[in-house]
Amino acid sequence: MLKLIFGLLLAALLMGQAMPPTADRQLAHDIYKEFIEIRSGYTTGATTPVAEAAAARLRAAGFADADIFIGGATPKKANLVVRYRGVGKAKPILLLAHTDVVEAKREDWTTDPFEFVEKDGYYYGRGTGDDKAQAAVWIANLIRYKREGFKPDRDIIVALTADEEGGGPYNGVEWLLKNHRDLIDAEYCLNEGGWGETRGGKRFSNDIQVAEKYVINFRLEVKNKGGHSSMPVPDNAIYHLAAALDKLSRFGFPLKTNDVTRTYFESLAKIEQSPIKDDLAKVSAGSPELLERIAAVSPGWNATLRTTCVATQIEGGHARNALPQLAAANVNCRVLPEDTVSYVKETLTKLIADDQVAILIEGEVNQGPASPLRPDVLKAINQVTDSLWPGVPAVPMMVMGATDGAYLRVAGIPTYGVQGFFFGEDDMRFHGRDERMPVKSFYEGQTFLYRLVKVLAGGE
Ligand SMILES: [Zn+2]
Repeated sequence: MLKLIFGLLLAALLMGQAMPPTADRQLAHDIYKEFIEIRSGYTTGATTPVAEAAAARLRAAGFADADIFIGGATPKKANLVVRYRGVGKAKPILLLAHTDVVEAKREDWTTDPFEFVEKDGYYYGRGTGDDKAQAAVWIANLIRYKREGFKPDRDIIVALTADEEGGGPYNGVEWLLKNHRDLIDAEYCLNEGGWGETRGGKRFSNDIQVAEKYVINFRLEVKNKGGHSSMPVPDNAIYHLAAALDKLSRFGFPLKTNDVTRTYFESLAKIEQSPIKDDLAKVSAGSPELLERIAAVSPGWNATLRTTCVATQIEGGHARNALPQLAAANVNCRVLPEDTVSYVKETLTKLIADDQVAILIEGEVNQGPASPLRPDVLKAINQVTDSLWPGVPAVPMMVMGATDGAYLRVAGIPTYGVQGFFFGEDDMRFHGRDERMPVKSFYEGQTFLYRLVKVLAGGE
């Protein structure tokens, strides 16, 4: 009985330790609510009110106007940059979050997506996960450091930026890099893109995003003089395209690993329960058969081990009774950071081997390197993760989606996606309906980021 009481007390203590002080919790809550309720949808909304709301909070907390910047590519799409001054012993660190959100329609949701609702242990609202939690926490924690008189060894810069979702002409990070690089120049950056995962309610990994695949869209296009469908000829645009897509459907890029994915699978080997555990542990040895077995486990692991290209859209023909003059498909490729654009294009050209099929690159390609596995950053993340959630590993990984980290990595600012917010591995609702964040996760993440930035910034 005594043991039980002691156990409960200890658990309560540890939980208390993971929770920020009440006033800071309330502040983070209020900022989070305020951000969620601003309609900053990527296509129809504005990020400027979010930047202004954050600036008002910072000014009220005593931040100097000279350290706050608001500006952007267009009046509705402003970014906020604020600098917390350190003693200048090292280059600044940059804390990034985007303030635009994927559009959400009231009729698709159970609750109003632009109302901050607490229900059944969750916070609901568009952006509760992606990415207004981190935005709110960066601001709340900066205010807490100020109140506590924290003097970091280096400047801490927070940037809340526009239009991460879909990139486009108003992307805040791209704009800041081009127009105000000095404001956000840093040794490295912490961003979204890595979060904690729970299985059956139990935390099992705190993910760190250190690399991203990049995207190439190819248009496969076949043009033909066409003719009347009553007198067909073998040279048919649709058949050329179909043959090309058939070859693609049976093709796989070579399986391989890099520093990041090797570390990822080796970390997973320590928590995996099934027999694949042994293969994961030996991933560095990397025989083709072993990589085949790992890739076969899930589409996610397959995509971690190779560049992938898949047909996503198709068009062609202009009448039921005419031979097609055009057949075209979009092929969406998610490319490993170490594979080049020309390598992917040449591989597809060789595979398809039909000069009737033009292989054209659509739009801009943003290829960035992986961030180096910096020992100082990884050590700090491990240490803080372990202090809050003993036994939960911090796992470096490469993600399939793209974030603003890509712009920063290209610009020479290594970027690490890390949040310490835990979500159920089967309950990721980013971009979807009824997006939500476990209430407890939010405040634990607040503590995690508070401690992590303190360790990385140094000072007292
Ligand atoms: Zn996001």
